[in-house]
Amino acid sequence: MNELRQLARKLLADKTVGVVIGYEEGQGAVTRPSFATSPEQAEKLVFDARCVQNLASYLSPRRSTVRSLGKPAVVVKACDAKALAGLIREAQVKREDVVVISVACGGVLADPRSGKALSEAMVADRCRDCDGAHTSLADHKVGQAKAPAFGSPKVDARLAELQAMTAPQRFAFFKSVFSECTRCNVCREVCPMCFCARCMADKSEPQWIESSPHLRGNFAWHMLRAMHLAGRCVGCNECERACPAGIPLSLITRKMQKVVSERFGYSPSDDPNVPAPTGAFRLDDAQEFIR
Ligand code: SF4
Ligand code: SF4
Ligand code: SF4
Repeated sequence: MNELRQLARKLLADKTVGVVIGYEEGQGAVTRPSFATSPEQAEKLVFDARCVQNLASYLSPRRSTVRSLGKPAVVVKACDAKALAGLIREAQVKREDVVVISVACGGVLADPRSGKALSEAMVADRCRDCDGAHTSLADHKVGQAKAPAFGSPKVDARLAELQAMTAPQRFAFFKSVFSECTRCNVCREVCPMCFCARCMADKSEPQWIESSPHLRGNFAWHMLRAMHLAGRCVGCNECERACPAGIPLSLITRKMQKVVSERFGYSPSDDPNVPAPTGAFRLDDAQEFIR
């Protein structure tokens, strides 16, 4: 903690950056995003297993208030770094415009409000297949990186169950799941890779998608989201964690990730120079959809 605060203090004092985006204590047992703009405010910074949020989403160009604070330094876990790489890859952030502070992470809690300690039962699913290594994007590394060891992601078992269903059974499952969606858009707001200035789902002339919570529009919204994030989603699972309706969005994001990996050999990477499948044409791509 001291190492992180010292570094943040220095970056702010010598005006290398205008803001350090990290975590601070919130209300109750949770932490919340922090925006330190002075060396004194750097004293608030914390990092532990409650720091679940993907802070790369504050680098998105649609966060104009954060941008107005000056050049940012951002605290990233290994998984957050993949989102930062995605933003650089898609020309939303210039690498030289951000200072990257990589923190060693041994896993975060699935539900930081629980007040429980990190354990096999309490760990976030995304941490189960993470190598925990410091990102190669790091300008500064804080702490000794170590791989968390928590077994395989539970979402994979649920996906296998879905895969074993017949198509009508799967349809019935998603119908019941999507009928709970209130279209609050929180999943979009927390997603680092949802950076469009105006989301297609908000357009009214023409209106592509019904915006009220109705099963037909809900299906369209979730399909649009899945397609727009295919090969771009970094699997941070913030959308599912933030969803107030408890919709298991990782069933969709993880499935898309698997399809993209099998078909295009692409997995979310923290190297911005690795082209995303949606941004590259390869002669050996399977092109059976072109008839
Ligand atoms: S996925 Fe890895 S880097 Fe991300 S929170 Fe879990 S252990 Fe930390
Ligand atoms: S956060 Fe949940 S309820 Fe809100 S739009 Fe997304 S899926 Fe629907
Ligand atoms: S779709 Fe969800 S899991 Fe994927 S990058 Fe966005 S918030 Fe993270």
